[in-house]
Amino acid sequence: DVDCIYEALMNTAMDIDSLEADSHLDEVWIKEVIKKAGMKLKWSKLKQDKVRENKDAVRRPHADPALLTPRSPVVTIMGHVDHGKTTLLDKLRKTQVAATEAGGITQHIGAFLGEKITFLDTPGHAAFSAMRARGAQVTDIVILVVAADDGVMKQTVESIQHAKDAQVPIVLAINKCDKAEADPEKVKKELLAYDVVCEDYGGDVQAVHVSALTGDNLMALAEATVTLAEMLELKAEPTGPVEGTVIESFTDKGRGPVTTAIIQRGTLKKGSVLVAGKSWAKVRSMFDENGKTINEASPSMPVGIIGWRDLPSAGDEILEVESEPRAREVINWRKYEQEQEKNKENLKIIEEKRKEHQEAHRKAREKYGTLHWKERSFIKYQEKKEQKPLKLKEKAERDSHVLPIIIKGDVDGSVEAILNIMDTYDASHECELELVHFGVGDISENDVNLAETFHGVIYGFNVNAGNVIEQSAVKKGVKIKLHKIIYHLIEDLQEELSSRLPYTV
Ligand code: GDP
Repeated sequence: DVDCIYEALMNTAMDIDSLEADSHLDEVWIKEVIKKAGMKLKWSKLKQDKVRENKDAVRRPHADPALLTPRSPVVTIMGHVDHGKTTLLDKLRKTQVAATEAGGITQHIGAFLGEKITFLDTPGHAAFSAMRARGAQVTDIVILVVAADDGVMKQTVESIQHAKDAQVPIVLAINKCDKAEADPEKVKKELLAYDVVCEDYGGDVQAVHVSALTGDNLMALAEATVTLAEMLELKAEPTGPVEGTVIESFTDKGRGPVTTAIIQRGTLKKGSVLVAGKSWAKVRSMFDENGKTINEASPSMPVGIIGWRDLPSAGDEILEVESEPRAREVINWRKYEQEQEKNKENLKIIEEKRKEHQEAHRKAREKYGTLHWKERSFIKYQEKKEQKPLKLKEKAERDSHVLPIIIKGDVDGSVEAILNIMDTYDASHECELELVHFGVGDISENDVNLAETFHGVIYGFNVNAGNVIEQSAVKKGVKIKLHKIIYHLIEDLQEELSSRLPYTV
């Protein structure tokens, strides 16, 4: 998080030298920051300067209508689980292949099979939402599958919502009509409540009674889909740089990151350089929906793409760029931008912590005035002793609500800062801190002995514990906790306190 700290310094334009000397805490805080940042500061600044300018890749403006040519519809099958989506998709694809191969059928079913329908493998609803959230509109038509023996269910309603939000028209497939208990009319009536009005009821949604299992009426479903597609007059520009959307992405053992995508503009060729999300690709090879290698993919075609450096996500926009260096530039910018977002969040957290600690420091000063921290801690220690004359050791043994601690810091200021913060945390906890000992310098054998006697924990800030000391601590069952950031130490302390709280019902 060095970048983040660096940003913090830059943003607040803090002048280190002019820090008020009276605030030890701030001084300690800033010193931490500087130390951490120092090493990478230069590197981080260089890097930022290089990518600071937005050189992202974006979609081209709308095409000249003269360049547009008709394209096939991209269809997504949606519906409640077990209503027959997978079976239907499988059958529809086979029907399509069979119909195209047996040329004779074409005449019987009319012109519509001349158009090829691209059926998207049912993306999970989550994937569909993700795509929509990114503004990726890949689907032209939704085939809504509702089982006639089950009716409208939760995911049916969600599917309708998805389609409506994306303004994608619906063709209704009332499935499982082969079943004795099938009641297609009931389905149509139920759908009225969700503003899906079938033609029978005066609406414009075509409803087809089918059986994915027997294959009954699937041609009619295909015909309804193509009729709708024709009305939509779908067109795309087959030339120019490629634009598309990632439908799925996965890692293949042999081929590395692979995506399936829908091309929406331009024609994808081997060797094209693409960016998607925070990854880029030089297209090594492509395959169609049957896994066959292809050399080109034009609009509306689903295509498998191999050659990605990393794995893009479903819904990511694919854009062709002119060269590999250009792809790197785009990816660098996108990563930088993401980092900036993350930094902003981190900054907020740091700022909150800083305020908390400042407040603790202020309160302690109010209470103890200008007393030196050693005197002050002594007073505090005495106060506690008077309140509870019981000997610490006995108390700790008897009472699990006490956490005896030893604090060691690198300089006076840091010890003071920690004690100040402890003051405020202490009072607000059910479990109590007992300061057994504190001081400046590395962890010593004496500290370990004390901790052993009192069953305490040693906390060190910016100090070390030698090997010998550590081994001795392990032997004696004493915890030594070393930190380099104050709020980490305090957090650790709080965790330790919470762990000692009795279980409450
Ligand atoms: P999905 O979860 O929506 O993809 O549903 P599936 O395609 O996996 O189908 C769920 C179950 O319903 C499977 O056992 C199918 O064999 C069965 N099924 C699908 N379509 C039909 C149909 O038209 N008639 C009958 N009787 N069963 C069907």
